[in-house]
Amino acid sequence: MGNVAREADSSSSMQAKDVPEVDVLADQVRIFQLARKLGLRSEALLKVLGDLGLEDVSAASSIDIETARAAAEILADQAREARKRAEEEAAREAEAAEAAARAAAAAEEAEEAAKEAAEPAEAEVAAGEGEEEVVEVEEEEIEEEEAPQRWVPAWAAPESLRSLEEQLAELEFEEEEEEEEEWVVTLPEEARRPSGDRPEHAIDVPPVVSVLGHVDHGKTTLLDALRETDVVSTEAGGITQHIGASEIQLADGNSIVFVDTPGHAAFTAMRARGGQVADIVVLVVAADDGVMPQTAEAIGHARAAEVPIIVAINKIDMPGADVDRTKQQLLEHELVAEDFGGDTIMVPVSALKKEGLDDLLEMILLLAEVQELWADPEAPFTGVVVEAGRDDSRGPVATVLVRNGEIKVGDVVMCGTGHGRVRRLNDWRGKSVKRMGPGHPVEVIGLSEVPEAGEIMTVAENVKAAREITAGREEELREAGLEASGRASLKDLYRELGELVVKDLNLVLKADVSGSVQVMESQLRALDRQLEEVDINIIHSGVGEVNESDVLLAVASNAIILGFHVGVTEAAERTAEAEHVEIRTYDIIYEALDDIQRAMLGMLEPIYEEQLIGRGRVLQIFRISRVGVVAGCVITDGYAQRGARMVVTRGRDEVVFEGTLDSLRRFDDEARRVEAPNECGISTPDFRGWEEDDRIEFFAEVEVPRTTSFKSTR
Ligand code: GDP
Repeated sequence: MGNVAREADSSSSMQAKDVPEVDVLADQVRIFQLARKLGLRSEALLKVLGDLGLEDVSAASSIDIETARAAAEILADQAREARKRAEEEAAREAEAAEAAARAAAAAEEAEEAAKEAAEPAEAEVAAGEGEEEVVEVEEEEIEEEEAPQRWVPAWAAPESLRSLEEQLAELEFEEEEEEEEEWVVTLPEEARRPSGDRPEHAIDVPPVVSVLGHVDHGKTTLLDALRETDVVSTEAGGITQHIGASEIQLADGNSIVFVDTPGHAAFTAMRARGGQVADIVVLVVAADDGVMPQTAEAIGHARAAEVPIIVAINKIDMPGADVDRTKQQLLEHELVAEDFGGDTIMVPVSALKKEGLDDLLEMILLLAEVQELWADPEAPFTGVVVEAGRDDSRGPVATVLVRNGEIKVGDVVMCGTGHGRVRRLNDWRGKSVKRMGPGHPVEVIGLSEVPEAGEIMTVAENVKAAREITAGREEELREAGLEASGRASLKDLYRELGELVVKDLNLVLKADVSGSVQVMESQLRALDRQLEEVDINIIHSGVGEVNESDVLLAVASNAIILGFHVGVTEAAERTAEAEHVEIRTYDIIYEALDDIQRAMLGMLEPIYEEQLIGRGRVLQIFRISRVGVVAGCVITDGYAQRGARMVVTRGRDEVVFEGTLDSLRRFDDEARRVEAPNECGISTPDFRGWEEDDRIEFFAEVEVPRTTSFKSTR
C-alpha cells in the first residue's frame, strides 16, 4: 500500500472535477428565492426566464446576476403594462359603476311608480340585484387582474424598486419574516440514490460504504485504518473529531464515503426509517474465526437491502488465519469468491498491519463504477441523517449525507417532526464550511431537536412553512399511532388476498439449531411453489433468539418474524411492540406452516360467537330520579359486561325482558365489567319492570379459539 496513503495531492481530486466549487454560487441566486424576493411566484419568473432562453431550469436552479437583471427588466416592463391595463380597467369599471348607479336610480323611480301597481316587489328585487352585481363585478375584475401576475404593489411601482444587487445581498442570511407566502415543499421520497435518466448537469458522487460483520472481527480497526489513508487528513495531521461519516480522499483523486458506525443494527435501523445510504457493504470476516452468527445476520441484512457485498477477509496476519476455509464457509451463504467460480469480490486484509487496504479500496471503487452513482446538484436539497446526538455546547448535531442539491448555512431545514435554521456546517474533518453539495457528509448544527439516523432532511422555504409541515407530520404520526399499524401480519394477509392481489409474505426465521432453520426454509419454499396467491420471501434466517436487529430488519422489509424453539430478547419485544412487528414463536415447525396456510385461507380471521358470559340475580330495586329504575344485583356466575345482551326471567322461566345492558355501576362508578360474586347496579331505559329475585343471563360476542386442524390447501 503506502503510496496511496502518503502521496499527498489535495489539489487534483475527483471533487474538483465533479462537484461544483462550493463558492461558485456566491454571485448567483436561486430562482425561487429571487421570485419570492420580487413578490412573484416561481412559475411566473420561470416563464420570463424561458422567454430569455433558459428552459431547462427549475425553481431550485441558480441563475447569475446578469440573467437576473435581464429578467428584472422584462418584469418591470410587464409590471408597467399591467398597471396600465389595471388603470384602463378601473376607468371602465368606474363607467360601468356609473351606469349601474343610473340603472339603480331608474329602478327606484320605477319602484316609486309601481307603488300603486299590483306587484311592487318585483321591481324592488330587480333594483337590489342590480346594485349587488356592481359590487361583485368590481371585486372579480380586480382579482382577475392580480391573480395571474401576483404583483406586489411595491414592485409594480418602479420608483420604489430597489437595486437588484441590494436585494440579492439580503437573500443569504436575513431573518425570515413571518408573512403569508407560498413555499416550495420538498417531499422526502427521494432519499435513495436518484435513478432514471441522468440529467446533463448531474455529477458523479463517491460511493457510500457501510462496514458490517461479526463482533471483534475488526470492523472498527478497519475503519480507522482506512481513514488513515485519507490524503488530506494525513497531510493536515490527522482527524481530531469523528462526525459519523468519513469521506476518504485517495491519492488518485477518487473518494469514498464510509459510515462510521459499523454493524448491521445501525445499518438496518437507518433503512427502517427510510434512509438507506449504503451503496456497498464491506463484510468483515476474521480469517482466524470464520463465518459466525453475526456474519450470517449481516449477509441477510445486506441482501434484504439489495446492497452488493465486498468481503474483507481480515486478520490474515493471525497464526490461525485460513483464507480458503473462510471462503468455503461463505459458500454456504451463497457468497462465492471469484476464484471459486463466483462473482463476489473477496479481499484478504490485515486491518492491524494495514495490509491489503489499497486492494480493498480499489475494489470498492470498481464496484462503485459499475453502479454509476450520480446526483443532481440543482435539485432541491435532500439528505439522510447518518448519525445524530446532542452536544452540550452546540445543541442537536446531525451528520447528514447530502443526496441531492446542496445545504447552506442559513437554510431552514426539516427533519422528521423537527426543524431549524442551519447555524453551522462542518465537513467530515471538522472544518467549517458555508455549503455542501451532493455526495458528501456534513455535520449540521442548528436543529431544534435531535433527529434519528435514517431520517430524511429537506429544506423549507421559511420557518413558518417548516413549522406547518412538521406540525402536519406530527399529526400524521399521531394518527398513524392511533390506527392499527400498516405492518405485515398474518391476519392481514388474507384481507389482501381477498382482494386478489398476489401478496408478498416476507419472513425472518429464527431457530435454535441450524437443522431446524434448514427444514423450515425448505418447507416454506415448497409451500411457496405450491401457492399462486402468495410469494413467500425468506428475508433472513438464522440461529439464536429473536433479537432487536431481527425486528429492525422486519421493519425495513415489512416482514413477519417466525421463531422456533427460541425466545425473544427484551429489546426485541420492546421494539416489536413499538414498531408493530408481528413475532410468532412455535415449538413445532408444522404449526407455523399450518398458520401460514390458514392465514391464506382466511382462517386466522377471528371467529366470534355469542356465548353466555355470566348470570346474576336481582336483590333490590332502586327508583332514582332522573336515572330511572336500577336493579341492584349480585353476579352469581361469570361476569356482567356493559353492552351485553340480557335475558331477564322470573318465576318459572318466564322471560320478562330481553335487551341490552346499558348501564352497569359498581358502587357509584360506571363499570365496564363486574365479575362474580360482586354486586352491581344494572339499568336500561328499555325496561323498568324489574322485581326482586328476577334472574338475569348475560350474553356477549366472544372470540372463539379455533379447533379445526388444517388439512391441505388443495
Ligand atoms: P469490531 O468489534 O468488529 O469492531 O472489532 P475491532 O476492530 O474492535 O477489533 C477487535 C480486535 O481484533 C481488536 O483487538 C483489534 O486490535 C483486533 N484486530 C482487528 N483487526 C486485526 C487484524 O487485522 N489483525 C489482528 N491480528 N488483529 C486485529
